Order: sequence, then C-alpha cells, then structure tokens
Amino acid sequence: MLALNNIHAGYGKIDVLWDISFTVEAGEIVTLVGGNGAGKTTILNTVSGILKPRSGTITFLGQKINGLSPYHIVNLGVCYVPEGGKPFPDMSVRENLEMGAYVQENWRKREATIEEVFEIFPRLRDRRAQLASTLSGGERQMLAMARSLMAHPKLCMFDEPSYGLAPVIVKELFEFIANLHDRGVTILIVEQNIQNALEAADRAYVLENGRVVLEGESAAIAQDAYVKKAYLGL
Ligand code: ATP
Repeated sequence: MLALNNIHAGYGKIDVLWDISFTVEAGEIVTLVGGNGAGKTTILNTVSGILKPRSGTITFLGQKINGLSPYHIVNLGVCYVPEGGKPFPDMSVRENLEMGAYVQENWRKREATIEEVFEIFPRLRDRRAQLASTLSGGERQMLAMARSLMAHPKLCMFDEPSYGLAPVIVKELFEFIANLHDRGVTILIVEQNIQNALEAADRAYVLENGRVVLEGESAAIAQDAYVKKAYLGL
C-alpha cells in the first residue's frame, strides 16, 4: 500500500533521513520505533507531503505521491495524527470532527460519519459540546484519531499516540487502534514507547540517526538481543 524507496530528507542544510526504505502492506499494523531525534516524525512529515524529500520515491497504492500537496495526499486516503493530536483548541469536539470532513464528498456524509466515530469513541459523544482546549490529554488524542477518521482514510499514521499519557489511557488508545484496524484501516504507528508498539504491530522498523537499522516481525524484534538491551532495558 505504502512504499518508501531510498528517501533522503532534511531541513535546510541539515540532513535527517538517509536512504530510508520501508513498506506497509494493506491490512497491516506497522511500527517505526526509535529514540529522540531518530527521524520518526520527519518520516511522517515526508509521507504526508509537509516536507519534500531530497531524493527517493514514495508510492501509495501504486501512485507516486512525493511532490503532491498534503491536501492531495489526504484525499488519496492517507491521514496523519501528529504528536499530541493538535486539535483546534477553541472549537468544540463536534466542530473539530467536522473540520476533519472538509473534502466535499466527506462533508456531505459528515453526520453519518460523526455517528460512526461516536460509536468507536463513546466518550467523545458525551463531550461533543466541550471545547477541545479543556479535554484531558487522552481525550485530545482520541479526538485527533476520531477527526482523522472523518476523511475515511485507507492508511492512518499516528505519531507517538502514547506520548505523555498514563499507562491505563495508553492501553485504551491502543485498543482503539486495534478497533480501527479491525474496521479495515491500515496503520503506521511511530513510537518511542517501543513495548506497546511492538505488541500492537505485525512488523517493525527500528530507526537510529535517520537510518533503518533493523526490521522484521514485531515478535522477532522484541526478542532481538540489541533491542532488548538498548530499548527495553532488559
Ligand atoms: P522525537 O521522538 O524526539 O519526536 P523523532 O524521531 O520524531 O524524535 P524528528 O522530530 O524527526 O525525530 O527529528 C529528527 C531530527 O530533525 C532532529 O535532529 C531534529 O532536531 C531535526 N528537526 C526536526 N524538525 C526540524 C525543523 N523543522 N528544522 C530543523 N531541524 C529539524
């Protein structure tokens, strides 16, 4: 579904990604894990069209997407939930959801989609009139996930959904991710919280200093001696 081939990217004169190649197949949950500054967010910025790669290609459903605008990439079915969710703070939960349906066809279907989204995230239904700025961190993350569903995505990319949240909330968010997956959405999760990510994902790529250093089935990565020592503190 998604393939990155030999992507180099950076900001201004600074190079951040070096020769990144990976794939996400339809129906998979894939995770990109790595420490601070490894380049995880930069990869998502590049796939979503926010940052243009210096070289390499990105294809989505067989179509080359690097060079397309973020708007165009969303329309093809790729959604990106940034770290912390970043909802519009002065809009209500419901208004934030409507903002996720700005493409004409989705806008027409928005009432039905909001109902579907409330079934997945019942807590948002209770808080539909509440301003996003007054939600808890976990609820903000739920709202961001819910907003991304308003565009009927085929691939959802989540940047550190667990960041700064209590373990009980993290568990709940990963259950939502599993639920979305069961509904047919393909998922790419970027995480520093490697344990949760490996438990959720089918396959994993380990990123260090802008390069993929290890890849494989999540179960195998979790058993890898280097990963255990460097990331899992075992
Ligand atoms: P974290 O888990 O800490 O968010 P990350 O793996 O997501 O880290 P990135 O945010 O992709 O890492 O950052 C990779 C490198 O790119 C870092 O050295 C960072 O300082 C640099 N970087 C990120 N954004 C910019 C920017 N807008 N301008 C310049 N450098 C940037």
